[in-house]
Parts: sequence; structure tokens; C-alpha cells
Amino acid sequence: MTSDRNPSAADAGARAAPGHAGLLGALDFSVLQQCMHCGMCLPTCPTYAATKLERHSPRGRITLMREIAEGRLEVSAAFGDEMYYCLGCLACVTACPAGVDYPTLFETARAEVEERGVLAAPKRDFIRRAVLRGLFTRPRLLRLVGRLLWLWRASGARWVFRSLRLNRLLPAYWRGLEAQAPDGRARFSHQLIAPVERPAHRPAAAAPLRRVALLTGCVQDILLAEINRDTADVLLAADCEVHTPPVQPCCGSLHAHNGDLATARQLARRQLDLFDPAQFDAIISNAGGCGSHLRHYGKLLATDAAYRDRAHQWDAKVRDVHEWLVEIGWKPPPLPAAPGGVTYHDSCHLCHGQHVAAQPRALLQAACGPAYRELGEAAWCCGSAGIYNLTHPATSADLLRRKMGHVRATGAATVATGNPGCHLQLQHGARQHGLDVRVEHPVSLLARAVRAAAAQR
Ligand code: SF4
Ligand code: SF4
Repeated sequence: MTSDRNPSAADAGARAAPGHAGLLGALDFSVLQQCMHCGMCLPTCPTYAATKLERHSPRGRITLMREIAEGRLEVSAAFGDEMYYCLGCLACVTACPAGVDYPTLFETARAEVEERGVLAAPKRDFIRRAVLRGLFTRPRLLRLVGRLLWLWRASGARWVFRSLRLNRLLPAYWRGLEAQAPDGRARFSHQLIAPVERPAHRPAAAAPLRRVALLTGCVQDILLAEINRDTADVLLAADCEVHTPPVQPCCGSLHAHNGDLATARQLARRQLDLFDPAQFDAIISNAGGCGSHLRHYGKLLATDAAYRDRAHQWDAKVRDVHEWLVEIGWKPPPLPAAPGGVTYHDSCHLCHGQHVAAQPRALLQAACGPAYRELGEAAWCCGSAGIYNLTHPATSADLLRRKMGHVRATGAATVATGNPGCHLQLQHGARQHGLDVRVEHPVSLLARAVRAAAAQR
């Protein structure tokens, strides 16, 4: 039997808050009670840093959620705006000494905002339905969009459009979107990676192969598919057998973070139908935002008797690619040349959501040696935050300016990051702020090192 009830409300022994019939009221009350109002999260919160207003802080937001759960406050448009002003960066989770489960609170609050319809408006509802339910549930349609983006650039249509300054005819918001439109790719993951690949040369006495599943993602697949190829190459070099089904569903993180938990559950079930976790030593994600969500299918499907056990098994197998490489003891060969140096920007959901921060640095330092240099405020959000750069362009632009200032200060010619949203945002930032800096996924640098080492053999 499947269910779309709020999972936390169904936990054995959970006690709901008195006075409110909605999703926040149905949440295990102990989750809402965890915050002890110490304020240690405040200095790490980008929206609080921007306004210095308590309601824009994690503590303030949790207080609002609790007021609603206890029936002292109505779910209103102002509450909805507050929940969407939050970046969902989870920096507060890292800072919190009480272990507050902010991801559950945040996702439940946004789901309640959507369920109550307090932000409903025809244009917003249409875009949400088209993007969340129409596009991101259909991988083939998503690839068609990727193809069109590629054609827009490759055919020269974009060049003509911009040369004739036709973008001036667009309303300001759409003009901003057009400037940020990514390039698209001629080929997607299934055209670059075979469904099953094994390491080419193995010594006879080698240990048994590790079987891993590679998740190709949505945005990564249509805009940065070569990163998936690089990931497969590094996994092969680390003596793994790589399984990459050609058509994969979206992981559902975009939906869960945007208040559509029902679709997020549907997509999680599709993912579990496609990959049997019992068949793999690890399920590999190379996208920080997706990985952070993928590790919590057990919680998402806690009330689904048909999928609950498999979801918990899945959670135990999900690994970020850097985490997995360090866990199995793989050492990268040296990168022959890292001109101008390499620095690293933490994806929020990789470092705060998955607590993977040391592993990418260790791998980059091993491959790049002294060319690697630390980035100031590396774990401060770049302003991408899912679709935040589209929904809150001014705040996002401020965060990007701050980030690019730190990138500039390193003098590095390459900034590495492990999430497609950050990747595209940093590329946009480099163009906008006139920085001659390449953006790379760490595995792309590692893959280059692997290929260079193979060429020397
Ligand atoms: S998720 Fe980020 S923006 Fe939201 S409250 Fe936490 S630190 Fe602030
Ligand atoms: S650090 Fe944790 S306990 Fe302290 S105010 Fe922030 S969320 Fe609450």
C-alpha cells in the first residue's frame, strides 16, 4: 500500500502538536521542540546576514513553524514568502549544537504552504505544474529541452539574437533568464556511457570488483553530461564495475525542496524500481543537491509499506562519489598541470546536507599538490540553491558577487564544485564579473589525471 501522508507523523510513538490540523501540526512534535533558541546558527545563515531580521534566521523560521503547529498562527502568504526566502542551504544544520532536523521542518513547511495554496497565483501555479510535474518527471522530454538549448547556441540563433540586441525586447525578468540560459549539450549520458562498464585491465589476483550504480541526474545529464562520463572513468580507475541505466528518473529533490512531496515520493519509488540496492556495493551520486535528498528515501517513504524496507536499504548504499573514492582507499594520480591553481567551492547540500567536505579536498590536494588553494567562505551559499537564482534573483546575485570576490582573491584559474546548480551559477558569475576562471567538477580533474597517467603507461 502506498501513502502520501507526512512520514514523520506516522513514526511509532510520535506525538503531534496540539491545535493545528495541517502538515506542521501532524509532524512529530519533538522535531519542532528541538530548537533551544541558542542562536548559534544565526551567523551562518545567509538570509539573516543580509537583513539582520530574526524572522529571516533559522531560529525565527522554526519559531514561526512551531507557532503554526501549535495553532497560534495561521498559514499565510507572509509565512509562505518566508519559507521561500530561505535558501534551504542547510548551513544552520552544520552550526546547530542541538541537531535540529531543519530539512524535515523546511520541507514540511513548504509542503504546507503549497497544500494551503497561500501563494497560489495562475502564473506561479502554471510554472510549478509545468516544471515540477510536466518536465522533471519525464527524462526524455527533459532531454528534448536540453537538445533545444544546444541547438539555440550551436545553430547561431543565440548569437544573432544577442548581436541584434533583441533581448532588449524581453521583460526584465526574462532578459535575466536568457542571460543565464545554459548551453545544453550535443550528447547526453546514455550516449557517453554504456549501461555496464568494467575496468579494462585487471591483474589476475585483483580483489573482487565493486559493483556500483551511477546516477546521472537531470540537470547534469542534459547540461553537463561529460561530468557523468568523467565520473564513470574515475570509478573504473578505482576498480569498480559501473552500472548506468540509459534512462533514469529525476531523484525528486527539486520537488521535495519545493513543497511537492507527493511527486517526490512518486519519483523515489521509480528510482527504487529501477535500481535494486541489494545488487550494488554503492549507489553513486555526483551532484551534491541530489545526493542530499537521495540519502533520505527511507524517511520520505516511511509510511509506504511496499517500499519502506527497500528505501532504507537504498539509503545505506547511497554515496557521494568523493566519499566513495576515499572510503575504498583510492588515490588519484597527479594532475600533470593545473595552471593558475585550483580552488574548491562547497555545494551546500554536499557539505551541510551530506557532511562531505574533507573528501573532495583530500582528492583535489592529492591530484593537484601545491596548486590547490582554499577558498574563503567556501561553504557559504553561492546563490544557486535549486531555483533560488530564478525566484529571488537579487538575493542570489548578492550571494554570487560575494562568492566571486572570494574566487578572485585566490587567483585560481579553476574553481571546482560538486553540484550542477553551483557549477552553472559559478560559470554565470565568472562571465558576469569578468573573471577568467574555469568551473570544473572535481571528478573531471581526477579523470584528467587518470587519463594522463594511462597515456604514460
Ligand atoms: S537553510 Fe540556509 S537560509 Fe535557510 S535558515 Fe538555514 S542557514 Fe538560513
Ligand atoms: S543553533 Fe539550533 S538550537 Fe540554536 S537557535 Fe539555531 S536551530 Fe535553534
